[in-house]
Amino acid sequence: MTNYPSHYINGQWVAAQSAETLPVHDSSTEEIMATVPAGTAQEAERAVLAARAAFEGWSSLPVETRAAYLEKVAAGLKARTDDMALAIAREVGMPLKMSRMVQVGGPTWHWGNYAKVARNFEWEKKVGNSLVVREAIGVVGCITPWNFPLSQITLKIAPALAAGCTVVLKPSEIAPVNAMILAEIIHEAGLPPGVFNLVNGMGPVVGEVLATHPEVDMVSFTGSTRAGKRVSELASQSVKRVALELGGKSASVILDDADFEAAVKGTISACMLNSGQTCSAHTRMLVPASRYEEVKALAKTAIAKFSIGPSLEESSRLGPLVSANQRDRVLGFIRTGIAEGADVIAGGAEAPPMAKGYFVQPTILGIKPTDTLAQEEIFGPVLVVIPYQDEEEAVAIANSTIYGLGGGVWSGSDEHAMKVARRIRTGQVDINGGPFNAQAPFGGYKQSGNGREAGVYGFEEFLEFKSLQLKPVAA
Ligand code: NAD
Repeated sequence: MTNYPSHYINGQWVAAQSAETLPVHDSSTEEIMATVPAGTAQEAERAVLAARAAFEGWSSLPVETRAAYLEKVAAGLKARTDDMALAIAREVGMPLKMSRMVQVGGPTWHWGNYAKVARNFEWEKKVGNSLVVREAIGVVGCITPWNFPLSQITLKIAPALAAGCTVVLKPSEIAPVNAMILAEIIHEAGLPPGVFNLVNGMGPVVGEVLATHPEVDMVSFTGSTRAGKRVSELASQSVKRVALELGGKSASVILDDADFEAAVKGTISACMLNSGQTCSAHTRMLVPASRYEEVKALAKTAIAKFSIGPSLEESSRLGPLVSANQRDRVLGFIRTGIAEGADVIAGGAEAPPMAKGYFVQPTILGIKPTDTLAQEEIFGPVLVVIPYQDEEEAVAIANSTIYGLGGGVWSGSDEHAMKVARRIRTGQVDINGGPFNAQAPFGGYKQSGNGREAGVYGFEEFLEFKSLQLKPVAA
């Protein structure tokens, strides 16, 4: 077990003020694998002031110098891939091999990519008699969740630092070990003091300081819609820019002319990644009512391959959920679905045969569009199948939640699928299982959030515009 006694403020590990610690559980064994300090409001403020003091120096460095620091962090992460993958496999529960690829490989690539994005960016442009200049917005407070913890941290901090911002990170209190390893890597990369700061702790204590402090110019938040609304409310008092990446209830629409075997298999994979603890998971499968029985048979075959087991075992395809709370919440949803008359196609609320770990059986339920499970984000290995009568109804059901983050459309023709995709109010749609693109904008419509992450789109979120009006030169 590792006890982390400090926060990272102004380029140093600073011993925590309070003796209170937060336990981090290995989700496969339920053992406490680490503790982090419960940060105080004063510690959060100290970090904000350090970031403020560092801002002018960092933002005025040549872009090339900042880009070189980012590349050092990417190299440091690459060198510590094994440590990082192991920590995330234990604290989040994603099987180790997958964790290495998705939870560590992706973020390492983004650190390097943001060095390139900053170098290739058009920082100023002549428009009529103005020079339009892009500048870093200032001090950014970053608040992140536990499900893809290093990715979510990286997609805020790497572009913010590349843009010239300084940052204070409050990582998830449930999976903070990866953030501590990243802070060690950033420290070794030798960034100037105050450019990157990390304060562990609870959202209502440390997070709320970041959302309210007048010296924070922007808050970038990823997490639940509930906490995102609270952060927005608080941030409005000092008119901060707020970027929100929130929940989802994404639909995979299988059209009548699709390859059903591929579509059902693809949807189940897009639902079950990280045991369904993925904000953009395809958690609603919309199918023609006339093909429901065929879909059920295909779904039963496909789900049988998702073997559950501890995250460090080679044979596990699905790990446990992150915590006892999350497991109980998901089981509660399965029970509600069954009480409302769901057709149990696979799985259910019975405990799987593991002595330890926060496991839930991968579950598929046939439901009606008006049921609770058609609306609520479950955040577990639960897919709902909703039959529709015609394409009009399929689009209406796809658009019938408060969310709009991801989704998919399956059809025998990409054109047909794209026509339907354009009618869905959501930030990303995979056409016939088109793979994830790390350069494409990621973010939500409706209550799935504001703003976009990844690629140049995520970078521009951290910039201001300034117009310098020049006196026209006399002819
Ligand atoms: P959460 O909202 O409980 O916590 C997220 C972060 O917010 C944590 O660091 C937490 O400490 C902090 N927080 C909580 N209350 C706060 C407050 N009052 N003020 C400031 N900060 C506060 O979410 P979670 O359980 O960690 O993550 C799961 C949720 O995140 C799901 O709803 C999921 O859909 C969403 N999510 C969205 C995306 C996306 O990109 N859209 C990505 C991953 C997760």
